[in-house]
Formats: sequence, C-alpha cells, structure tokens
Amino acid sequence: MTNVPDKISPNKSKRREKVAYLVVHWTGGTFASAVDWCLRDESDVSYHVIIAPDGEARQIVPWEYAAWAVGWSKSPYPDFPFMSGNHASESIALAGGPPVAPTQKQRERLVVILAERMVANGWDHDQVWRIIGHDQTAVFKPGHPQAGQFGRKPDPQGHGWLPLIPIREAVRTLLRGPTT
Ligand SMILES: [Zn+2]
Repeated sequence: MTNVPDKISPNKSKRREKVAYLVVHWTGGTFASAVDWCLRDESDVSYHVIIAPDGEARQIVPWEYAAWAVGWSKSPYPDFPFMSGNHASESIALAGGPPVAPTQKQRERLVVILAERMVANGWDHDQVWRIIGHDQTAVFKPGHPQAGQFGRKPDPQGHGWLPLIPIREAVRTLLRGPTT
C-alpha cells in the first residue's frame, strides 16, 4: 500500500476521533467512476482507498483525515461507541457490487490492506472484529420511520457479495503468522 495518495479528494475532514473500526464497502460502480466521483467536490463522498478488480489500490484520502464514507451510523458494539462513524473509522471500498462478485485479486488486496491498517492502528490479531461492513454500522437518519435503526446500507455483505467472516479470518492468519 502506497502512502502517497495519487489525487486527494476534497471530501474529507480533520479527524476528531480515534479510529475504532475499519469499514469495508462496495462502490456500486466501476473503479474509474468511483475514483472520479470521490474526487469531485459536489459528490460529498469519499473513501480512503478504492480497490480495482485487478487489485490496484488507489488512495484518495490520507489515513489521518476522516473520509466521508459512512454517514449516519452507530457502533455495532455498544462497548465501543463513537460520535461520528466517519471520524472513528477508516474506509476501504471494493469497486463494483452485485450481481458481479468481487475478484480474488480484490479480496487479496483487501486482506493485505486491512492487515496493514490493523498494525498501523496498534491492533493485534485478536481484534479483527474491528473490521466491519458498512451494513453493520449505517443507520437510518433522523426523520426516517426507522431512524436510528440499522439497515440503511447493504454493502458489502448484502446479497452475499462479500461475507466478512472469512476476510477477518484471513487477516487474523496474516497477522498471527504461521502457527507451529
Ligand atoms: Zn458503503
């Protein structure tokens, strides 16, 4: 993972909270369209990194900033609450979405980046629960009949697109190293 962003999105904030979660997304469009959209002022969205089907990873928000990826949200684990999902997380998106499955190269790159960010945040292999889906944290906004309830976003686990249990397990294995 390069530490030098290719182009930096204007859609970011100075981080106000300690990172508690690594949030995984699908973009719902192609790699090129997702990168382009996140670099536009008017989109008001961004991720830290977007991973292409060929495994290329493009960083568009530096880790030290909050990306605008999570929106209305609450912590899936009440013992680890946050004020703002965007400020308390790092967001990594795989380009694409249902009905086309993510590629093996995308999954492999995701696992490597997640492992790097686990280390960077000082978390060991027992904390892979910090890897969550947008579906696990997004809640309906105030005014909606289901305000405050989960279910606003399906990515990345909706339709069985990218189950995170095997991803966490792969990250855990990578961090723990070979067991003897
Ligand atoms: Zn998302």
